Amino acid sequence: AVGAQGGDDAEDELLGFLASQEGGPMLDARFALRVCEEQGLPRAVVLLYGMMGMHEEAVRSALERGDLGLAKENARKPADRRMRQKLWLHIVEHQVASGDVQKIIGLIRESQELSVRDVLPFIPDSMTIDAFQVEICECLDQYEEQIETLRQEMEDHRRALKAFKEDLKQAEERVIVIEEDQSCEICGEPATRERFYVFACRHCFHEACLRALVLPALSPARRERLLALEATRLEHHAAAAGALAGPPPMAPAR
Ligand SMILES: [Zn+2]
Ligand SMILES: [Zn+2]
Repeated sequence: AVGAQGGDDAEDELLGFLASQEGGPMLDARFALRVCEEQGLPRAVVLLYGMMGMHEEAVRSALERGDLGLAKENARKPADRRMRQKLWLHIVEHQVASGDVQKIIGLIRESQELSVRDVLPFIPDSMTIDAFQVEICECLDQYEEQIETLRQEMEDHRRALKAFKEDLKQAEERVIVIEEDQSCEICGEPATRERFYVFACRHCFHEACLRALVLPALSPARRERLLALEATRLEHHAAAAGALAGPPPMAPAR
């Protein structure tokens, strides 16, 4: 049972007791929380919220009570950095009401989680931000560097894209002339008899001959990929044939 009438000393004692029981099997934190709330023991409530991993409630509850130290203590607890940042921003939001810019700057430094950029959205227009000048200038310098890097990257991408387009155009326009009776390098039969590939050196290979040559040497993963690609091509041909109601297209020379 918890005696609430003993004032701060009694609450100190209770806090010590709760802290000693943290994580232990004997403490039912939810039950304790309800009792402490009913009994009006705000510091114990904050402690219990923190112990239950409900850090936002812990910070909010500490701020409501006006206990800044306790709020900060709880803002440091979460393992997740974004959560800590969020909690520190709650504290900033709360402190903005005081209108004291120095306090806000103090919080930024103390938190080690926040930058001026995080905090600015919470600063009302009426608050003078002269005091932030040094921090803001540092921030702007950083942005300028980042923008310059991005601009450089964009330029590189643009150049690469242009080169790629030129390559593609050249590849599209490339024509290789072969003899009418040119034969497949694998089976020796006329290349044009079935679907075939021709290389820049003018060697021709039936697709089926190449496939039979290559397939046994492929890793299982690449073999699967080849089969998947072939299945896709068959589907496309079927679709094209359906659309044109004609025979499948002739093998293009590559
Ligand atoms: Zn062949
Ligand atoms: Zn060749």
